[in-house]
Amino acid sequence: MVVKREEIEIEGISIILERKNIKNLYLRIKPDGTVKVSSPKRLSDDAINDFVLSRIDWIRETRAKMLENPPKPKVKYKDGETHYIWGEPYTLQLISNDNAKKAFYDTKEHIIYLPVPKRSTIKQREKILFELYRDEMNRNLDYFLHKCTYFVGKEPKEIKIRNMKNWGNCRKDKRVTLNLKLAKKPPICTEYVLIHELCHLIEFNHGPRFKALMDNFCPNWREIKQLLNEEQ
Ligand SMILES: [Zn+2]
Repeated sequence: MVVKREEIEIEGISIILERKNIKNLYLRIKPDGTVKVSSPKRLSDDAINDFVLSRIDWIRETRAKMLENPPKPKVKYKDGETHYIWGEPYTLQLISNDNAKKAFYDTKEHIIYLPVPKRSTIKQREKILFELYRDEMNRNLDYFLHKCTYFVGKEPKEIKIRNMKNWGNCRKDKRVTLNLKLAKKPPICTEYVLIHELCHLIEFNHGPRFKALMDNFCPNWREIKQLLNEEQ
């Protein structure tokens, strides 16, 4: 795709304008505050100008918010970083120990020990920590399952722990999957996700009947959902 890129200024805001082979105008503000407009090739400057002006207040507000809250530094799984287990903060400590293959943690000192090979990559370190989360989830799965199936009155055919994008999943064949990263969050979050998935054994979609089930089995699910999706 041929892209013509230029920088324009509207109302004192500099904008990167890209003209390309698309049908509609798009406006995007990147986390660093850069405003980017993508436009169909032959659209006039006036039309682009009008489009940006119609959104100028939103652009100003959104940029101001973004620049106030800069994006969080990327997680690198380095010494001293804070990571969470069941909602509690721990300091990460990298160790090189041939005997220890798995990560472990000290609840008194609040340290997670991460055994890593020399010159490990971020991905490798993440994988070791994620295995700890997986173990935590597996270790507590019976407890969660017992409690939540008691509430909902339904049992899954199978339950699995995986690293995945969503927090949980329930298939039509009654197999439930939970995200291993739930082990980072307070236990109530796993309960909420599991109750949600078990409610799908009664009602497959997220309609009013589903919400009524959630209100019944987990009355404060809305607050828990918010807690779950907070950055941590
Ligand atoms: Zn659902």
